[in-house]
Formats: sequence, C-alpha cells, structure tokens
Amino acid sequence: MTICVDMGATEIKVAPIKEKNNEIFVGEVQRFPTNAYLGKQGIVNALRGAIASLYNADVDGVAIASAGDIDTISSVITYATENLPGMIGFDFAEFCMQEFNLPARAINDAHAALLGEMVYGVGKAHLDKRVVMLTLGSGVGGGYFADGDIVANEENDYGRFGHICLEKDGRPCTCGKLGCVEMYLSGRAIHRDADKMGIDGPDIFEKYAQGEAKNVEFVEAFRNNLKITLDKVMSVSPFDVCIMGGGVADWMGEHFSSITKDLGYSIIRASLGNSAGIYGAYAQYNKERKIK
Ligand SMILES: [Zn+2]
Repeated sequence: MTICVDMGATEIKVAPIKEKNNEIFVGEVQRFPTNAYLGKQGIVNALRGAIASLYNADVDGVAIASAGDIDTISSVITYATENLPGMIGFDFAEFCMQEFNLPARAINDAHAALLGEMVYGVGKAHLDKRVVMLTLGSGVGGGYFADGDIVANEENDYGRFGHICLEKDGRPCTCGKLGCVEMYLSGRAIHRDADKMGIDGPDIFEKYAQGEAKNVEFVEAFRNNLKITLDKVMSVSPFDVCIMGGGVADWMGEHFSSITKDLGYSIIRASLGNSAGIYGAYAQYNKERKIK
C-alpha cells in the first residue's frame, strides 16, 4: 500500500492506494487543515499528522502532490508562494525517510492532476495526443502532456498557465504581474465578477442555459476569456485536447459541453474530480519506482 498525499494551501488530502493485477484501489480520502498560517513548522506538523494517520507496516512509500514548484527528481520544493510560507527548499524525500523510514516522490499538484487523468482518467483515450489541462479552482492550475509524459520547462513556463497574461495592464495578480488568467478564470474571480453584476453565483451557468440576458452576457465574456487563454496556451504548449477540471468545471455541470463548444478547441471535462492529485501522485511515484 502507498500513502498518497495532495497538499494544497488550505488542506492536505490523504488516501491509501493498493495495486493488484494492474488494478488500483483507492481508499477513503481524509482531509486535514494545512495550517499554513502557522508557517513552516505548522505545515510540516500537519503533513506528518496526515501521513501518520495511514501509517502501518504494509506501507511501501509516500506519493505526494503539492502546491509550489517541485523538482520531480529530488522531490524538493524549488518555489512556493506565501500560500506555503517557508517551504522553499523543503525535501519531501528526506522528510519521509527521516520521519517514517519510507521512500517518497513528489510532483507539482497541477501536473499531478493531469498525470492522474492521463493514466487513470479521461486522458487514457488520448495518450498518443498532446494534452493540456486547465484546473479552474480557487486558483488556475495548468499542465502539459506530450510524447507520453508531463512536459514542464522554461519554454512553457512549467505549465503555469494561470499566470499567462490575459489582459495587458489588467488586474493585479498575487504573483506580482498584471492581467494574469487566474484573476479572470478562477472560481474566486468568477464569483467576484458575478457579484459585481448582481448575478447569483450558484445559478450562473444554469440561468445562462435558460437564456437570462445578464447571464448570457456574463458567460459570453467568460467564454471569450477562455478562448484568449487557450490561444495563448497553444502558442507555448501546442495541444490537440484540453482537459478542464476544478470547481468551475463542476459548476457548469450538465452545461459543460454547450459552454465550451465552438471555441475552436477540443475541450473535455476532467473525470477524477478532487482526487486527481492523489491519482497523479501515485502515477508519478510508480513511474519513478519502475524506472529505478
Ligand atoms: Zn499571476
């Protein structure tokens, strides 16, 4: 059994995965607060507690997806925002070995979500294609898959599509730049914009489908922003298929296809929901182990 962890800025999800005859079995997902407000020690304590909750003699290792930039060879956090204060330089492999005597492998959470979809989700049918993923959640995560693996390099800014410039001199972003995609397409941004227009958040897409004028205007603006984003993603990471996940995709519900059609791209909905990071962490862990 492998302990699989998905560490975000607000919560740490953890679940056991067992594999038998090439089939995987995912146990119950438990959630713990990350306690990022307590700084590095608080985060590390939360991580230790999350792993310890599933620790037993059958565990072979720890598979981790985490916010921040992760070097997948060393499993070290090479960059993190103030969402995970003090965590730059944190070594997941060293931590798990010291604390639990277990090997560990880590990968960025957005990359994990894409890898999870490719190996265990809707991406399985597109393994021979170039695939991008946009996760429209509280932030906007991105990832790029080509030639059978995640591609993250300087040319595509490590798949940080949430921080591509959507509007020149636009809204200030937490990263310090102006007009980032995340300031327009994240769940938070959409809620805020809807509020300003006096549109009720939960029904945005439902009332769009019913033809309510305000909502049509709002969703058309959203579609336009999405199209600009995909055009820009295409220029740094040429793709055949886009997998869209996160809370915003769930929010669209049954209207997903009608909202994402006619943008000039093949857009499909993610299939693993909140657990994509857990699956992807496991896929990465296993891949590394097999390579060794
Ligand atoms: Zn930004």
